[in-house]
Amino acid sequence: MAAPRTELPPTAGLPLRWRDFAPTAAPPLARSLARLLELDDEAATLTCSGTAALVLALSALKRGSARREVIVPAYTCPLLAIAVAHCGLALRVCDTRPGHFEMDPEALAALCGRDTLAVVPAHLGGRLADLGAPLRLARAAGAWVIEDAAQALGARHADGTPAGAAGDLGLLSLAAGKGLSIFEGGALIAHDPALRAGIAELAPQLLPSSPAWELRRCVELIGYAAFYRPRGLRWVYGRPLRQALRRGDDVAAAQDGFPLSIPLHRVSAWRRNIGARAAARLPAFLDAARQRALTRSAQLRGIEGVQVLGDRRGERGTWPTLTLLFADPAARDAALARLWGAGLGVSWPFVRALPDYDYLRGTVPQAPAPNAADFAARVLAIGNSEWLDDEAFARIAAVLQESCRGGRG
Ligand SMILES: *Cc1c(COP(=O)(O)O)cnc(C)c1O
Repeated sequence: MAAPRTELPPTAGLPLRWRDFAPTAAPPLARSLARLLELDDEAATLTCSGTAALVLALSALKRGSARREVIVPAYTCPLLAIAVAHCGLALRVCDTRPGHFEMDPEALAALCGRDTLAVVPAHLGGRLADLGAPLRLARAAGAWVIEDAAQALGARHADGTPAGAAGDLGLLSLAAGKGLSIFEGGALIAHDPALRAGIAELAPQLLPSSPAWELRRCVELIGYAAFYRPRGLRWVYGRPLRQALRRGDDVAAAQDGFPLSIPLHRVSAWRRNIGARAAARLPAFLDAARQRALTRSAQLRGIEGVQVLGDRRGERGTWPTLTLLFADPAARDAALARLWGAGLGVSWPFVRALPDYDYLRGTVPQAPAPNAADFAARVLAIGNSEWLDDEAFARIAAVLQESCRGGRG
């Protein structure tokens, strides 16, 4: 595979500007995020990652309950499983419904019970999971709902509720490549006053100051600002990707191989300031991404054998990627073989169902999740960055078409 000269990102993250680094005071980042979700100023707690926000959430819930089980969808970010294990809680994996990443309501009903502490439905690639069944089933079982909006900051449910604000608690991620980034960061949303008080008490203990971690993140953030563009991404994203593909290591290529230990520390005012300044540009950035995505979704509609996941009636998702579902896994594999590594920002979101990652064998219980495995085998994502021009998009579309016609291009 020849290395392309430019490299497009697999997701559309908001590019930073050097003036985001200016030393003038910005409004606090936690407050900006709360306002984005139309909540009061105290609703969000800033954390060093989305994973850390989940650790904080579960730690707060665990203090007030003897329940010990946490239910997550079988097709989601492996970090959720690692956070549950970190908290000493028991993971229960819920298979998805056929052809989707949402938890299957029947499977979820069978898992919810007297030991269920929390259910964690997740939105993926800006597409919203329907929270109707998770909220209803969790409430009936006396469990909490933690809405994972790590990939959907700025999205809205059909009833108008912003993603992240629809559950009892909500997770946001500010990791590299997510909509808004401070290289690694996150936030925990809480509504209930007692929960908020518990979180406020736990946060300084769970996320102590760590000059070593924070210095590392500051350097990484400067690197992100410098390299998150088509010329720079070739070095920091494209090279390691193609090396992993040459080794046949799909987990590494998708960046799904996370360490089992979670950095937990305070985020400095310096990084919070940068995030807060960039946050002001997020709404316009999301609108532009949406326009691009809707136009391009329409262009892909003519390809038989590929479905672009879209919004359901009334929903307004975000568009970090166009998420495609192939009818035939062989066609997906054929498209991926030609496009992943080609520098066009095409990727495979999560490569396995949670029980199928070898490195998570000790962390995830071995329960069958056939629908999640099938979704993993048929999904493909096109990064919806502003750098993907019409010509490059046409090249992607041509490969998709050829792959669906029989895998030979
Ligand atoms: C990124 C992500 C997380 C974790 O967020 P980090 O900030 O990377 O720790 C959780 N859930 C989903 C669906 C994600 O994509």
